[in-house]
Amino acid sequence: MNEMQGLFKIAVLPGDGIGPEVTAEAVKVLKLVEEITGPRFRFHSGLIGGTALDATAVPLPAETISICNNATAILLGAVGGPQWDSKRREIRPEQGLLQLRQRMGLYVNLRPAKVLDSLIGLSALKPERVRGTDLLIVRELMGGIYFGNPRGIFAKNGGRVGINTEIYREHEVERVAHRAFQLARLRRRKVTSVDKANVLETSRLWRDVVTRIGRSYADVELEHLYIDNCAMKLIDEPARFDVILTSNMFGDILSDEAASLTGSIGLLPSASLGERTALYEPVHGSAPDIAGRNRANPVASIASAALMLRYSCRMENAAAAIEAAIEKVLKRGARTPDMQGKKRAVTTSRMGDLIAAETQKLLKSSKFRAA
Ligand code: NAD
Repeated sequence: MNEMQGLFKIAVLPGDGIGPEVTAEAVKVLKLVEEITGPRFRFHSGLIGGTALDATAVPLPAETISICNNATAILLGAVGGPQWDSKRREIRPEQGLLQLRQRMGLYVNLRPAKVLDSLIGLSALKPERVRGTDLLIVRELMGGIYFGNPRGIFAKNGGRVGINTEIYREHEVERVAHRAFQLARLRRRKVTSVDKANVLETSRLWRDVVTRIGRSYADVELEHLYIDNCAMKLIDEPARFDVILTSNMFGDILSDEAASLTGSIGLLPSASLGERTALYEPVHGSAPDIAGRNRANPVASIASAALMLRYSCRMENAAAAIEAAIEKVLKRGARTPDMQGKKRAVTTSRMGDLIAAETQKLLKSSKFRAA
């Protein structure tokens, strides 16, 4: 049985800190999905980050690369921790993740941010302002100012100058724009493209290309906003947004801004897509302060697994069932400590159990049975 017949190879890279704890809960949910849908996943574990450094002296070992190359999708926990902070930049745990993204050609990063009514009190904004927020940030991930040359800090005229270069090639904008419009078709059919076209040439090209691509998606509304205006509107009227399409650096900033609308960082999933293998991971890091204590919130990791089912395995019903299960369990009041202090808090594994059981129940119900 292979991918064509509905069996997917999943590379599982738990990584460091709370990574293994939260990833275990995502795998638990996937295994319970299999009990309903039949065999679907073949899991292959690999090392990445600090644990890989300790075992092999590199943050992304060849064996892990090979596992990922052969996988349909990668489910990652988190990398990093203070015990590796003294290492040279090239061999820090975070390099393992950056190298993996480059090697897999992951050029678009998706970050959904949805404000659940049951958690509205956790938002940085007042409930009446944030209610109904359900947006998706589509961020270009392989180009822009983070990768352009020349770059560096140089001596000049007795002082130093720091230089970075933003470059966008037409095809880089085209491919991410297509993704954004296609994703908007699965949602509320609106794309807000964000740039700084009043100042930057790269943004003028960006706006030109997005406008042209947009003509092929006449059923999707397109608007353009300047980054400064968008940053403001995200606070003033977040519920107005559906898909936000933007460059690497602007997306980096806007996605953290959007994250603060939803409450805990422990809730937010992400997907990074290329032409082939895709990577799914929580937005949060390895949280060394709570690692190994069964206190971490596994929702972001479980929701990342749901995105994997949606985008890599074409199992929309199962993905939707997991997302509905998360909402139900939270609505009933289950909270890990990050969401509710110490009172009545549940452990990482208990939260995973509750979501897994609810997912199974929903998958057996008529609404989701067609999976
Ligand atoms: P972090 O996201 O790990 O933690 C920030 C705060 O949020 C901490 O107080 C932490 O306890 C809390 N938190 C994070 N995830 C949580 C969860 N699931 N449940 C409950 N609480 C949670 O960010 P940081 O402290 O800046 O970084 C710690 C390490 O993680 C560093 O080494 C950093 O480089 C690395 N990091 C890795 C990634 C990644 O793997 N993608 C992303 C960001 C940071």
